Amino acid sequence: MELIFEISKTGRRAADVPKCDIPEIAIDSLIEKKYLRDDLDLPEVSEIDLVRHYTNLSRRNFGVDLGFYPLGSCTMKYNPKVNETVATFTQFTSLHPYAPDAFAQGNLRLLDETQKHLCDIFGMAHFTLQPAAGAHGELTGIMIIKKYFEQKGENRRFVLIPDTAHGTNPASGALCGFETLTLRSNKEGDVDVLHLESLMTEDVAALMLTNPNTLGLFEKNMEKVAQIVHGKGGLIYGDGANANAFLGKTRPGDLGFDVIQLNLHKTFSTPHGGGGPGSGPVGVSSVLADFLPVPRITKKGGIYGWSYDFPLSIGRVRAFYGNFNVVVKAYAYIRSLGAEGLTRASEMAVLNANYIKEKLKSYYDLPYDRVCMHECVFSGKRQVAESGVHTSDIAKRLIDFGYHPPTIYFPLIVPEALMIEPTETESKETLDAFCEAMMEISREAKENPQRVKDAPLTTPVRRLDEVLAARKPDVVWKK
Ligand SMILES: *Cc1c(COP(=O)(O)O)cnc(C)c1O
Repeated sequence: MELIFEISKTGRRAADVPKCDIPEIAIDSLIEKKYLRDDLDLPEVSEIDLVRHYTNLSRRNFGVDLGFYPLGSCTMKYNPKVNETVATFTQFTSLHPYAPDAFAQGNLRLLDETQKHLCDIFGMAHFTLQPAAGAHGELTGIMIIKKYFEQKGENRRFVLIPDTAHGTNPASGALCGFETLTLRSNKEGDVDVLHLESLMTEDVAALMLTNPNTLGLFEKNMEKVAQIVHGKGGLIYGDGANANAFLGKTRPGDLGFDVIQLNLHKTFSTPHGGGGPGSGPVGVSSVLADFLPVPRITKKGGIYGWSYDFPLSIGRVRAFYGNFNVVVKAYAYIRSLGAEGLTRASEMAVLNANYIKEKLKSYYDLPYDRVCMHECVFSGKRQVAESGVHTSDIAKRLIDFGYHPPTIYFPLIVPEALMIEPTETESKETLDAFCEAMMEISREAKENPQRVKDAPLTTPVRRLDEVLAARKPDVVWKK
């Protein structure tokens, strides 16, 4: 495809303005000459060329509106357009963040009700909506835990993190000044309870646990794990990125979690993947409520307002009140689906993942062969052994079949990992077609491995040096 500069023709334009009826004066009598530049190489194109150029460019992108996007751990579900529409209501979009509380009662009510719904769904006592993403929620949660122990006069040094955890977990612990200790998983993919017992001392502030974990498995020993951690006075932090697996089925608060973060842009209807705004609400048990960020919403005599009067608070973690529009979408999603709909969404997400797992397990190595939750993790090690085809090759070949690749090489404890999360919004036909493509690639890997290694064959650019492409993108137009 040509660059817009390459289709430029001097004098061509996309809009005409009427002839000016005001007398002309030389502009350099108004502005110093040095500010006037005529060396800018701006493209000159007609309206239709402009429209075609950008429409064609947009079609080079991949999104869930175009096709199946089974990127594990990211929950790339289809987000009902009605939630987008609601978020664009001018009552929401045009309210100034400095508007007096009296003028913002509806918006404050929406925030308050969202917090209450999240408390109900996840079994927590309080929520804050300030953090702007999952990792930011983790940071907020660990800051709360740190403050809790400071307040108790305890100086605990460590956080425990399972070897399956997302990289942001140790990063959040380290940013708050904790040292991280890696907790092993056992053969079934659960926390190794004996290892936990040996690591869990009164020097450990918290265990950061993702449940279901990034193998897509629900922690079988959850009760025991909670007993061990709480028994030493520690807290359990829950990475709630996988919440799409259990809405209406179980609640982290009931399982023993003291703090959790959610990713509204995964579970609650905000499209993501392009780096747009996210939201990472943090829920806490009642013992930790005093440490939540300020301002917090209050309601007195039926009137909503913001209060900063929480002296033990960790303070602000975000300007204003968080990414408000993302919360609006979550609110619309929760209210439109209701308890029944949310439960059904999780049931379908789990059913779809198990369907794919069962269909593909004779084609790809399945290191943890048990009922999974919302995602399943295969290993490409059979293909490596048989024909030298790696997981990265399989992922690239999927692009030729019109699919976004799944998450690969994560979690780290699975060699050549392929982590597939279909989500609840896909039909059986889509899942079948995807499985057919995966089967076809496994056949190709045997019969014509070079074809898989050369993939993608159908894209504008083929194999890039990914590190170089990220660090030194080739975007400069050379005449
Ligand atoms: C996505 C994810 C995170 C981080 O969330 P962001 O919103 O991307 O910051 C943390 N843990 C897990 C398991 C995740 O999948």
